Amino acid sequence: MLRCVIFDLDNTLVDSALDFSRIKAEIGTDQPILEYRAAVDPAEQRRVDEILDRHESRAAADCALCAGARELLDFLRVAGLRSALLTRNSRASVRTVLARHTLAFDVVLAREDSPPKPDPEPVRIICRRLGLQPADCLMVGDYLYDIQCGQAAGTRTLLVDGPHRKKFDAAPDYEVPSLHEARRVIADILRQEQQP
Ligand SMILES: [Mg+2]
Repeated sequence: MLRCVIFDLDNTLVDSALDFSRIKAEIGTDQPILEYRAAVDPAEQRRVDEILDRHESRAAADCALCAGARELLDFLRVAGLRSALLTRNSRASVRTVLARHTLAFDVVLAREDSPPKPDPEPVRIICRRLGLQPADCLMVGDYLYDIQCGQAAGTRTLLVDGPHRKKFDAAPDYEVPSLHEARRVIADILRQEQQP
């Protein structure tokens, strides 16, 4: 039974100007940033944090809500579903984004709160806090890590096509071009589950 939707933040709920290639170039790595950060010494971690925080706080202050985001979140509330936010972004920039767009979630996990996606642990944390099982959840995101994380934890997955889509191979349960269609998919799931 679908009871909770777990959302990625950047380029899923908000269009952010975060340019990961530029951030990686400034750090001087080709690896995913948080994985690089985890492998270096504390001084280098502080340098990475400074670069990342600068880019993230600027992007958070300027980001726009994705088309259909407000309608989808309102729909979930009316339908009695829980919602969670799971991001590799920092707590500080998540706070900025949530305040800027007056968004609220039952659980918010930033990178300080758990191992990052695609690790399935943050989904387990969300489920424990809400008293749910992963099978009760739908993970919604625009990137491979969102889908891998959901699948590893045992949620259903929905991919919202974003600018990175062509660069990875994923097999989500659902794939849609926007959050408007995501809302229709969720409405269909709820209708099917409510049939006797
Ligand atoms: Mg994303």
